[in-house]
Amino acid sequence: MHPESSNPSKECQEMFALLSQYLDEELPPETCEQIRSHISGCAPCVEFVNSLKRSIELVRNIEREEQPAPLPAAIREELKAAYKKMLSVRRGAPAGC
Ligand SMILES: [Zn+2]
Repeated sequence: MHPESSNPSKECQEMFALLSQYLDEELPPETCEQIRSHISGCAPCVEFVNSLKRSIELVRNIEREEQPAPLPAAIREELKAAYKKMLSVRRGAPAGC
């Protein structure tokens, strides 16, 4: 009994787990392809990815010379927040993914 909790599809959750790597281009081509094909059919994920990209571009502009490496923890937090926001927007809508 959790009327508040929206359960994203498992697939969306997996996408989320992979997305930060995806945006860092650390994934094998197959996985990238899998993500792309999911996203192309999933509007909430599209929005999510767009917001991720914006966040990451901001960070890269700032830290470009310093840290070409994995995403900083702050950004991961940012991504989680964005993800939750996305899910809350979806709440009440039919599960699309
Ligand atoms: Zn999705």
